[in-house]
Amino acid sequence: IIETIDLHKTFMLGEIPVEVLKDINLTINRGEFVTIMGPSGSGKSTLLYLMGGLDKPTAGKINILGQDIAAMTDKEQSIMRRRDVGFVFQFYNLIPNLTVEDNVLLPILLDGKKIKGYRKKLDEILETVELSDRKSHTPRELSGGQQQRVAIARALINDPDILLADEPTGNLDSKTTEEVMKLLQKINKESGKTIVQVSHSKETAEYGDRIISVKDGRVWI
Ligand code: ATP
Ligand code: MG
Repeated sequence: IIETIDLHKTFMLGEIPVEVLKDINLTINRGEFVTIMGPSGSGKSTLLYLMGGLDKPTAGKINILGQDIAAMTDKEQSIMRRRDVGFVFQFYNLIPNLTVEDNVLLPILLDGKKIKGYRKKLDEILETVELSDRKSHTPRELSGGQQQRVAIARALINDPDILLADEPTGNLDSKTTEEVMKLLQKINKESGKTIVQVSHSKETAEYGDRIISVKDGRVWI
């Protein structure tokens, strides 16, 4: 479902090119739950963003759902990103003055689509993340774990095939981490979504099927 071929990414640090990812060849299959692990600064987030089409490779190719993203126009890329990929971040990135319901519906509103057709979907998703009773609360009235579950619900509202999560439990205590990881596992098993998470901990990696180790910009299997 995601394939990288001789993928390279170089950032310019002033005038100095820094090669963050070198020759990454990876295949992530439909329905897999994969964890990217590695030291700080090794290029994990960069790799995840490339996989979701949030950034472009310096060299090499990346195919998402069989489509070469470099060959897509910016418009096609943004459509793909919104339709096929959901993102979850460490610090939730919720809008503080919107309710849970509106935060989850935000991608729909930003797409200029009518929310009417999404009411049923919203209820189903809030049921899945066990927040049906919190619809009209705002993020500050929720715990960290609940906020992350709202972010997961938001990532699912467009029913993407792929869910990408950058240290989704990095800001949570161990009990809440377990809850969120069990939820991701359920989403993977029950709705067959392909999940790629970045994580620092062996414990959270155990909820997935496979670990990809990144070190010094290379993948070590
Ligand atoms: P962490 O575990 O700390 O989150 P990471 O493995 O996710 O680290 P990345 O965020 O992918 O690491 O960063 C890898 C390297 O690329 C770092 O040296 C970082 O400074 C650099 N980098 C990342 N994004 C950019 C950018 N937009 N511009 C310049 N350098 C960047
Ligand atoms: Mg990172």
